[in-house]
Amino acid sequence: MIPLCTPDLGSAERALLLEALDSTFVSSVGPFVERFEREFAGFTGARQAVACASGTAALHLALRVCGVGRGDLVLVSDFTFIASATPIIHQGAEPVFIDSEERTWNLDPQAVEDAFVRLDRSGRRPKAVIAVHVLGAPADLAPIQAICQRFGAILIEDAAEALGATIGAAHVGTIGRIGCFSFNGNKVITTGGGGMCVTADPALATAMKHLSTQAKLPGLAFVHDQVGYNYRLTNLAAALGLAQLGRLPEFLRRKRAIAERYRTALEPLGCRFQGVHDGARSSDWLASCLVAGDRDRILAHLTAAGIGGRPLWMPLSDQPCFLEDSRGRDGGKFGEEPRFMRFGGEVAKRLSATGISLPSSTHLSVADQDHVITTLIHAMGQS
Ligand SMILES: *Cc1c(COP(=O)(O)O)cnc(C)c1O
Repeated sequence: MIPLCTPDLGSAERALLLEALDSTFVSSVGPFVERFEREFAGFTGARQAVACASGTAALHLALRVCGVGRGDLVLVSDFTFIASATPIIHQGAEPVFIDSEERTWNLDPQAVEDAFVRLDRSGRRPKAVIAVHVLGAPADLAPIQAICQRFGAILIEDAAEALGATIGAAHVGTIGRIGCFSFNGNKVITTGGGGMCVTADPALATAMKHLSTQAKLPGLAFVHDQVGYNYRLTNLAAALGLAQLGRLPEFLRRKRAIAERYRTALEPLGCRFQGVHDGARSSDWLASCLVAGDRDRILAHLTAAGIGGRPLWMPLSDQPCFLEDSRGRDGGKFGEEPRFMRFGGEVAKRLSATGISLPSSTHLSVADQDHVITTLIHAMGQS
């Protein structure tokens, strides 16, 4: 069995995890959380970093402190993992799904502008844009940031898959008002489960930390000045994260070498890989391509051979949980009518129909990768 992407854990993780365990500070008090935040800020060049329970929690905190609330519109990629959009709904706001660029699979700046202009004509101004760095490749942030400035919207980066990715000299996540990262088991680094918000604004960082710790005021008494969340990262998880962060340069070298090897072997056979803008660099989190042939048959072939390939996401605007039942909700069943607006969508549909992610664990051996490549070539020949 060659899995899609599994964590790379070794002696460094074991040592820090045991240190945290032996200290008895296993929960949310303890030195590792602060150390992890400080070193994460150091690595990304962010001024402030706030650790939290997951990437989803990070996005939720970001939206909340940016004042996104009931009735607000938030633009987000149609082509991404569901958690880029669910926190918008948790805040009572409304996602507006935006199509991708053909080449980078990320938010299309032209579609973003169209959405702002057309919504503005009907008297609606989106409050924020969540730009996702899909699969680790940086979105084209400069024009998106300019559009946000023109219309007074807040730019939030979903960098959950893109730790290590850069645009020029800037690390992704540090360009928008807040950047959000994930340390889920399959991400570039893992804490078992966890997330991080980065920002240049100390007031926003303080507000996110406060909300993530039940909005409890300092002191012995249980006094809470807002309705907060239990979104803390534990000291145990932070110890794991600190060890993983130390190995991040090595992980990125491996991810990039794996992606490059797939590209060299498969591009000449008609597979189309995700493009990256000039001056930007991907984390190459999950090597993915659009295959030549019947994607579902190719994927079935890989699965039968014990290879953990995955289809690329379906467009969020097609997700059952984002559809409305025109006949009214009936026993929890979802309907067929879109519940939210969508601008474009043809590219997202095509990516969804033909895309495949390939095994990309940092510890994937050359022999195993060769096996994936020959199996995929064989499957494409048969489909
Ligand atoms: C993983 C992921 C998230 C959510 O992170 P969790 O830690 O799993 O909550 C959000 N957005 C994207 C694009 C992701 O890939």
